[in-house]
Amino acid sequence: LSRRVLISTKLFQLPERLLEALRVRRDRFGSDDLAQAYDAFLLDPGLGPPVYLTSDGRIVWDDDIWDVVGTRADAFAAVAAGIQKTGLSELRQLLPSRPTLSTDCPDCSATGRFDAQGQLKDLEGRSFTVVCMKCAGLGWTAPSLVLSESVLEAG
Ligand SMILES: [Zn+2]
Repeated sequence: LSRRVLISTKLFQLPERLLEALRVRRDRFGSDDLAQAYDAFLLDPGLGPPVYLTSDGRIVWDDDIWDVVGTRADAFAAVAAGIQKTGLSELRQLLPSRPTLSTDCPDCSATGRFDAQGQLKDLEGRSFTVVCMKCAGLGWTAPSLVLSESVLEAG
């Protein structure tokens, strides 16, 4: 049984302080084989595929059954999910800043989180939100930012 692991190009520059915070967190909660193999940090253990951020700024998807495409939207959404899952708000600085020529995302009312009008419920009946996939958690869309393009490392 082979494992399908997808790796992006270097999308992000991790500031030293963020790297330090990620390492502290990894030391505290432990790492798995993928985190070790890629010097990576778990962003989102997931309802979907587990996603990691590597120390050199790549996104790694442990894509067993999910058919991840590996678009820029997938990468940004992984960082957005990581902000919530890890509690490290410093991750936000990896996401692009909003350009002048942009519009509020209509799907999430510019929040970056999608709640299906309260229709999403967990097993205990509590409502929850997920990263908005239209804007990849940014809360806006812009013609200058193509979210649908693949960011996977060639080969
Ligand atoms: Zn949105």
